[in-house]
Amino acid sequence: MSRKTLRVSKIKNGTVIDHITGGHALDVIKILGITGHVDGVVTVAINVPSKKLDTKDMVKIEGRELKAEEVDKIALLAPHATINIVRNYKVVDKQRVKLPSVIREIVRCANPACISNSKEPVQPTFYVDSEEPLRIRCHYCGYIMEKQDVLKQF
Ligand SMILES: [Zn+2]
Repeated sequence: MSRKTLRVSKIKNGTVIDHITGGHALDVIKILGITGHVDGVVTVAINVPSKKLDTKDMVKIEGRELKAEEVDKIALLAPHATINIVRNYKVVDKQRVKLPSVIREIVRCANPACISNSKEPVQPTFYVDSEEPLRIRCHYCGYIMEKQDVLKQF
């Protein structure tokens, strides 16, 4: 068993988020709403040497499988991440996150005057101009949001 496999499969049940861009693990923790008051073990590894990226971060969450919406949010801030679902020490599902070219619902426009922030029944919609660094553009008002604007909402 390779060292990498060993690292990933150490938890019994849960999710291992691997290949997070170095330094972004804490953003991922924030997106997932993990605080000091969770049940189960959460392990964070920061600046692990990586072949694919210079350094990478990893987050292991015992006893929790991520929902599709949570995976989409992670794609916004860690576009190279892989999500491994672990059951009984085995990786049963492995997928790379994918940032769609159009993002709906998961973020709101940071422009308070935008129609998507009014009471109109308008679905927030953004176009991805750049994945890294993140730049998304509002369909309605053209406002451009960057990583920090998005992070504030989680
Ligand atoms: Zn807008």
